[in-house]
Amino acid sequence: MRRIAIIGSGQAGLINAHGLLKAGYQVSLYSDRTAKQWLTEGRPTGTAVRFPMALAYERELGLDFWKDSPAATAGVNFVLCLQPGTPFLTLNGFFPTSALAVDLRLQSSCWLEEFERRGGKLHIEKIDVTRLDQIAAEHDLTIVATGKGGLSQLFAVDESRSIYKKPQRHLSMVNVINTNDPPNWRDTKTKIARYYELPTAGETIWTPYHHMTHGTSWNLFSEAREGSPLDIFRDATSGPDVLDRFKQLIKKVYPWEWEWAKDMTLTDPNGWLVGEITPTIRKPVGTLPSGRIVTFVGDTGMAFDPIGAQGANNGNKMAQHLTEAVVKHGAAPFDADWITETFDQFYHTHGEPAYRFNNTLLEGLPAAGQAILAAQYGSSGQTSDQSVKQKLANAFCANFSDPRYATAALRDVAQANALISQQMGGSATSAIMKGRLAIILNQIRWRLSDQTKFGMHNQVRA
Ligand SMILES: Cc1cc2nc3c(=O)[nH]c(=O)nc-3n(C[C@H](O)[C@H](O)[C@H](O)COP(=O)(O)OP(=O)(O)OC[C@H]3O[C@@H](n4cnc5c(N)ncnc54)[C@H](O)[C@@H]3O)c2cc1C
Repeated sequence: MRRIAIIGSGQAGLINAHGLLKAGYQVSLYSDRTAKQWLTEGRPTGTAVRFPMALAYERELGLDFWKDSPAATAGVNFVLCLQPGTPFLTLNGFFPTSALAVDLRLQSSCWLEEFERRGGKLHIEKIDVTRLDQIAAEHDLTIVATGKGGLSQLFAVDESRSIYKKPQRHLSMVNVINTNDPPNWRDTKTKIARYYELPTAGETIWTPYHHMTHGTSWNLFSEAREGSPLDIFRDATSGPDVLDRFKQLIKKVYPWEWEWAKDMTLTDPNGWLVGEITPTIRKPVGTLPSGRIVTFVGDTGMAFDPIGAQGANNGNKMAQHLTEAVVKHGAAPFDADWITETFDQFYHTHGEPAYRFNNTLLEGLPAAGQAILAAQYGSSGQTSDQSVKQKLANAFCANFSDPRYATAALRDVAQANALISQQMGGSATSAIMKGRLAIILNQIRWRLSDQTKFGMHNQVRA
């Protein structure tokens, strides 16, 4: 039986480990923490909302332990604000099937225990390069899944694929409870994420979240452009500090949300993060001091800014691709050519579309994406809505799950028109013009109304 080693017990490493175990390989997983330490000492490395395509693979592997969680997210209420305090247009779309964010601490803890129960070999050990070299000597293939730091340096940055040289946003994240949700919210399965976009300032996103002890809760995260009104988290040093700043931000920038947010409290002392990520694509062959080679999966090889919620989704797809390639390769050696070819195939199929979609959001939607937003304006986000506007809004949301679907249309006007016509029937120009007119009329109505209430703008409802 061929032996495969995986280093790191985050999202990507564990999915890869379970996939290979299921395919019949002898898998050794090296984790720097135990299942218990994941719950008591770890920080979630991100929100990790997963969309239908990535969740389907977790289901296939029998890892969908939270499939009945009431924190499942049906869709997104996307709100474009021209400036703080001024909503401009909304999109209320549904994902093809629900998305889900499970606290990564709980998830890794459960998936680690399950890995051992299914016959995987677990080693609790922090791995350095010398030890990695020994591990590589004992295995047919060694996969590094240690995330963005440390061992990722073994893999050279692919300058031709990595567009950015520095972080594009400053990030902050916190898990909360005690929001003033609508009655029965905790029990319904039609929860939606809120995605506020301020083109010159950044994004503020909150999403239903399955927390390790509280269950249904919220995860808030902010993507601040440098020096913008959202850029207030850089020197935050604790969970209470981050939460306090989120409250200030919501009160000032999204005042209609204040009633919802004013009583929120932290879920736990470790459920927060601040930092920055330089989106980076690396070359898939890492060479150790002995000359042996290793490869990567997940953030180690492709690090995303979380703006488009792609990192964990991409990690699942990469793990699935790698597992299938290993199986296909039979008894042949896992040499540098095979590693490079395997990653190139993945990159062209899934990696690059995800990266391009994410970068499109980082740059701000160009004219094509704006035309789609205008044409769908009026999507109600009601499950009973069979309108063509709703169809187009849902098509926008489907792209989060599979960025091959509509990324080209978000970037290219001719392709945007084609998508609009395909989803709505009739002339794209007419749909865009009608949408723009409706936006202007609603702006006038909103300015004449009580602006602390955002009611006239549609919000997703069950
Ligand atoms: C604020 C924020 C929000 C996000 N939201 C989303 C989202 O909505 N959707 C989405 O798809 N993605 C999202 N992401 C990205 C997502 O969280 C990551 O892509 C994903 O968790 C990365 O998984 P990974 O397994 O590759 O790496 P990691 O999660 O970093 O796991 C690596 C593991 O390796 C272990 N390790 C490290 N070094 C060693 C060593 N030397 N020896 C042994 N073990 C080691 C670490 O303990 C860690 O557990 C978000 C990220 C952030 C920061």
